[in-house]
Amino acid sequence: MVRPFDLSTSDLIYPIFIREDGKTFEIPSMKGQRYYSLDSCVEVCGEAVELGIPAVMVFGVLKKKDADGSIALRKDAFHPKIFNKLKKEFGDDLVLISNVCLCDYTADEFCVYTDERGKVLNEKTAEMLGKIAVVHAEAGADVVAPAAMCDGQVRHMRSALDDAGFDDVAIMTYVKTDSCLFQPYFEAMTLAEKPRRTVDPSRFRTDVINEKMFMQKVDLDIGEGADMVIVKPALTNLDHVLRVKEKYPTVPIAAYQVSGEYAMIKLLGEYGHVDEKVLLMETLSSIKRAGADMILTYYAVEVAKILRGK
Ligand SMILES: [Zn+2]
Repeated sequence: MVRPFDLSTSDLIYPIFIREDGKTFEIPSMKGQRYYSLDSCVEVCGEAVELGIPAVMVFGVLKKKDADGSIALRKDAFHPKIFNKLKKEFGDDLVLISNVCLCDYTADEFCVYTDERGKVLNEKTAEMLGKIAVVHAEAGADVVAPAAMCDGQVRHMRSALDDAGFDDVAIMTYVKTDSCLFQPYFEAMTLAEKPRRTVDPSRFRTDVINEKMFMQKVDLDIGEGADMVIVKPALTNLDHVLRVKEKYPTVPIAAYQVSGEYAMIKLLGEYGHVDEKVLLMETLSSIKRAGADMILTYYAVEVAKILRGK
């Protein structure tokens, strides 16, 4: 009765991994989560809709990547197929959010373009992300989420979408601190044995201890036209969630409970040190308390079932 707010299924966004090679199995780095095929993703999305989860974040795992990521712009590529299929199946019952990053398409699996000396090529990356966003919007994505953390990515995306007639497609920008908690995700997204050996990601993610750097990036992306902000990871950035919420009370804020956070909860439960569900609800409640309007979590389906008493 006296709670100012509570966790609800309508806060949840379910991130799903869909493989182009059609193989479906448990993701080794994220026990309890599965890879879906183009067909089987319909099933899990249907379950999400039934449970009252309003949105999914789509991660496509390609069979083959290429040197410059230009495969992303082909209309017959895998990502457009996913959005086409899910939009046809669920219409407006499910919000389709597209993760837009170069690492999904480039052979070096890096989020940004670099020159031969390893210098990050900001404008070139941002321009490409804008083009990819249009391809996904054409195929049915409702929201695009630029994930490369490069300056200008929102500006390029907004103008590319507007020029193509997608002024109603929203931009949900990721602002990330540099974190080892992303590692299980990288392993899930690659078909290579040792992912990401090129440029150090700390060169474009924000320093975990530098809150000014983080807020500067938030200011930049909102100034460029971002409609929503995703703070990532959640657990290590609860103060950032609060700070963004206080500075931008009218901007919807999402927090992403990332793969490493998922794995920590899962493993602590498995080892028998804590009750997995209790820890899960405790972490999600703290994310909500910090000010998140939305929570991306690999536990979304399970949480929705708990909340519905199933
Ligand atoms: Zn990336």
